[in-house]
Amino acid sequence: MPQGRERITIVGASLAGYWAAETLRRDGFEGAISLIGDEAHEPYDRPPLSKKYLAGDVERDRVDLGNAEKLAALDLDLRLGQRATGLDVAARTLEVDRVAEPFDGLIIATGARCRTLPGTDGVAGVHTLRTVDDADAVRTAMDAGARRMVVVGAGFIGAEVASTAVGRGLAVTMVEALEAPFGRVLGVEMGAVLADVHRSHGVDLRTGVGVDEVLTGPDGGVGTRVVGVRLADGSEVACDLLVAGIGVIPNVDWLEGSGLEVADGVVCDETCLAAPGVVAAGDVARWTNARYGESMRVEHWDNAVQQGVHAARRLLQSDEEAQPFTPVPWFWSDQYDRKVQLAGRTHPDAEVRVVTGSVDEHRFVTYYGLGGRFLGALGMNRPRHVMQSKGLLEQDASWDEALAFAADWD
Ligand code: FAD
Ligand code: NAP
Repeated sequence: MPQGRERITIVGASLAGYWAAETLRRDGFEGAISLIGDEAHEPYDRPPLSKKYLAGDVERDRVDLGNAEKLAALDLDLRLGQRATGLDVAARTLEVDRVAEPFDGLIIATGARCRTLPGTDGVAGVHTLRTVDDADAVRTAMDAGARRMVVVGAGFIGAEVASTAVGRGLAVTMVEALEAPFGRVLGVEMGAVLADVHRSHGVDLRTGVGVDEVLTGPDGGVGTRVVGVRLADGSEVACDLLVAGIGVIPNVDWLEGSGLEVADGVVCDETCLAAPGVVAAGDVARWTNARYGESMRVEHWDNAVQQGVHAARRLLQSDEEAQPFTPVPWFWSDQYDRKVQLAGRTHPDAEVRVVTGSVDEHRFVTYYGLGGRFLGALGMNRPRHVMQSKGLLEQDASWDEALAFAADWD
């Protein structure tokens, strides 16, 4: 371990930050650990917020990351409701709520925040979904009898919220500027399958069209309330609840002038090191994934956990001991009774081949390949096959090897 690292500070008390703290202790770090988060809540998990928690199927205690006993065992200086406001890497000081404090090692895990629709600040009935408070607000609106929801953006948030809202009996219109839901992530062909899944559950899905204006009316005499949207094709859709899932922005504003390189995330080397004694992990981290020879930032659960673990270890290692962080990215998404999973990546020019199951039945595995290389595996209700395919991707299997492997499944 590098000499003199007695006090490690983690900024961001969520998934990557929690796993970093857990790893430091598991790997025997006995010094002080401060875990600083600007939310008022103890670390909690976000995936249920658009799914079972939003549906009302699980309550708050099921969303916590680790229980009170586990947290206590980590012996953390847990500082909730506090915000890092500045950093001076050269001086090794962090500013928390404008007061400077020293650190020996720093883990940046400040994640990302939602983009918002312009002009909708303070408009009742318009929501984004990132925090448990956001989820409570949408859930409360549904409990209070909201009937018609417009979801803007057919990405992860849009698709999962639409699915949950349909399950709660709301009429849902989903608006996506691209040609297909998940078009950029899965390609147009597989995006069309997702479109079919949503339409078959009664969602009025409008693709290839953006929202021009959020329509509002009076909100009981004070302020305004959403009553609908006007789309770029001139059509109007009425609603009493609107959820925008139009992407996120990494939380890096507080790092201005810190001495760190920031470019759509905190720029790190292959080992997650941003500067000597400073590492980053999770949605906020942009690092060079040596497996692909590319700089990337991944906005999914598994990456936040694995990178939180890796970054914490990196801080305890010398430069000689340090290992590159080279995951095959992976995510899952639950929509209706379908589990959608992607291991690896796609590419707009990739060959897309269904290797098992039936697209029409919404139960299949599709492989993506390019230039003889196996790039990714998409599964719908085929978790075992996706996980096996992830193993192949980790071994850098060729396209032909991957196809031969999958041929044994049927
Ligand atoms: P975050 O979870 O964003 O946490 C960062 C924390 O830092 C936040 O608490 C933030 O308030 C705090 N913070 C920010 N700035 C400061 C500051 N200056 N000072 C102090 N604190 C600060 N992924 C999947 O793979 N599958 C899923 O099914 C899935 N479902 C999801 C559902 C929802 C509703 C959401 C929002 C995300 C979902 N994800 C899913 C993505 C996954 O949850 C994220 O990738 C993960 O939360 C990232 O973790 P993180 O710790 O890097 O960042
Ligand atoms: P996202 O997955 O990036 O999808 C946003 C979608 O909205 C994109 O298709 C985007 O198109 C579109 N869009 C952007 N601006 C728009 C506009 N003005 N009008 C209509 N559509 C617009 O982001 P998200 O769904 O908001 O999710 C937020 C974050 O939570 C992401 O980091 C996501 O990974 C994470 N999350 C993950 C999961 C999961 O892994 N299961 C579940 C929930 C949330 P363009 O690409 O053209 O911008």
